[in-house]
Amino acid sequence: MLGTTCALAAGLHRRSWQIVAMAGVASILPDWDGLSIIFGAAAFDQLHRAVGHSVFVATPVAIVLAAAEYRLQLLSRCGVLLGRRIEGMPVPLPPEDDSGSAREGVLLWIVVAVLATWSHLAADLLFSGHAQLSDWGLKLFWPFSNSTYVFPAVRWGDALPTVILVVGMFAMLRWRSRVQGLAALTLLALVGYIASRVFLLPY
Ligand SMILES: [Zn+2]
Repeated sequence: MLGTTCALAAGLHRRSWQIVAMAGVASILPDWDGLSIIFGAAAFDQLHRAVGHSVFVATPVAIVLAAAEYRLQLLSRCGVLLGRRIEGMPVPLPPEDDSGSAREGVLLWIVVAVLATWSHLAADLLFSGHAQLSDWGLKLFWPFSNSTYVFPAVRWGDALPTVILVVGMFAMLRWRSRVQGLAALTLLALVGYIASRVFLLPY
């Protein structure tokens, strides 16, 4: 929701819905290292918030995603397929096969994907800890450094940031002609809440 809302606030939906969809995926991409849970709790503890959350890994992964998506439009094609299968869901137009107006250039896609991925890292730095759980730092510079970084402002389990983003999305769905303004307002509310947690209501 964060990556998509940022993309909408930037007005990228006027270029193409595909790039907004890619921003949404890019912003959750670093959590691929959470799949390490398959190999047990010890592997999860070592690898999650480390491998996928290192800028030296997350950035090239985002670039590969952007280049692949720009060329192949796989996410867009999945979206179209899903739209056709779900009754009542508006079917988005299929992606263009050539480099038409919907795709302004691979550089823009790369910049959007990298910024969206970094927004995940920024959010993870701010969202950490719990009444019964300690903070979980990010190994931002793995494998060159195992130092962890975290600036806990909002606890895990605090539902309000999610509520803000969900309400924003429903508002955008309701008033589609005002998507960009509503997305910006949603981000403002989110940043305001995080700031209030830092300066006014620290845990
Ligand atoms: Zn994460």
